[in-house]
Amino acid sequence: MKKHKRVFAAIHLDAVKNNIEQMEKMISDKTGMLCVIKTDGYGHGAVPVASVLESEDCVAGFAVATAEEAIELRDADINKPVLVLGYTFPQDYDELIYRNVRMTVFRRDTLKKLSEAVERLNSNGISCKALVHIKVDTGMGRIGIMPDDEGLAFVEEAMSCKGIEVEGIFTHFARADETDKTSAVEQYKKFIAFVNRAEKTCGKAIPYKHCANSAAILELPQTNMDLVRAGIAMYGLWPSDEVKKEIALQPVLSLHSHIVYCKEVPAGTPISYGGTYVTDKLTRVATVPVGYGDGYPRALSNIGHVLVCGKKAPILGRICMDQFMIDVSDIPEAVEGCLVTLIGRDGKEEITMEQLGDLSGRFNYELACDLGKRIPRVYYEGKEICSDF
Ligand SMILES: *Cc1c(COP(=O)(O)O)cnc(C)c1O
Repeated sequence: MKKHKRVFAAIHLDAVKNNIEQMEKMISDKTGMLCVIKTDGYGHGAVPVASVLESEDCVAGFAVATAEEAIELRDADINKPVLVLGYTFPQDYDELIYRNVRMTVFRRDTLKKLSEAVERLNSNGISCKALVHIKVDTGMGRIGIMPDDEGLAFVEEAMSCKGIEVEGIFTHFARADETDKTSAVEQYKKFIAFVNRAEKTCGKAIPYKHCANSAAILELPQTNMDLVRAGIAMYGLWPSDEVKKEIALQPVLSLHSHIVYCKEVPAGTPISYGGTYVTDKLTRVATVPVGYGDGYPRALSNIGHVLVCGKKAPILGRICMDQFMIDVSDIPEAVEGCLVTLIGRDGKEEITMEQLGDLSGRFNYELACDLGKRIPRVYYEGKEICSDF
């Protein structure tokens, strides 16, 4: 196996399992968990994460954002149910139906086209139907039918559409991660009222009703319903700093590099583009071969730090595309070849995704998703490396 030196993200799959178990303790026995692994598993790697979750009893299935993400899972022999949470374009209907991927519906034209796709497949001797989940907009203003008469007519049409089976209905909270839950509870009430009305009108129950994201799993247990959609918390990250940290989530990802160059420069030496940092004393400067081209935020220029030999080393000057410099004047044991931790723990010190997000004016979700393709992911089960991409 190749040893990655320049940069690598260590992904601890045991931590994923721990986080799932921690959340399982919070949810009702009747509730299944849909694990959200869109954007390549929030940057952690959708296939390896899904592979460890596939055999967990509490995992009912997976949710992704796009058709391509669903196909990637099927191609990797992930066989549990997969739901595409976003809009699916008609060009993908045949393949997704054939591969038993659930789609989210909220547009009338989708129903007709799905029905036609099923007919097409059937006429080719493939017996199948389109499993769909109806999206209801109760306060995101994003995708979804409105919980009104027109929305009701949509549900009725979906229920009676040939080749289509309405397996689920769901909504999404806009503000479940805030201390004040008034808005999320309002959304939940709207959703319940609409679903009750729809089931009564259609004279048929919809098997899977769901609305809870990570924040609601943590703080709104009354919204569990049939499924919860666990995203960010599965990766050991918090939905916001307003959410109470009452369960023991473990960060799944840490990011490392190695010092490639170390030198002493006199006072008055400008460091990096623009000379935005000028040394004020004799300084030991080390170069780290990682940059914004890897998704390491340029906004950390002159304000961030990394960990070397269990100590904090401040970033000097601007982050370049592929490199940046740090001050190791106070870390004499830092030499060329030393491990550098950009995210994660080194001894007593830790840099969390949340801290980096705050410091760079970004968002922990965004930072994880933006870790570049150029960063190899190394997967661990326990202390053992299980695969390496
Ligand atoms: C991304 C997403 C989730 C997961 O949200 P987290 O805050 O990461 O738990 C759930 N539902 C929908 C519809 C989503 O788009």
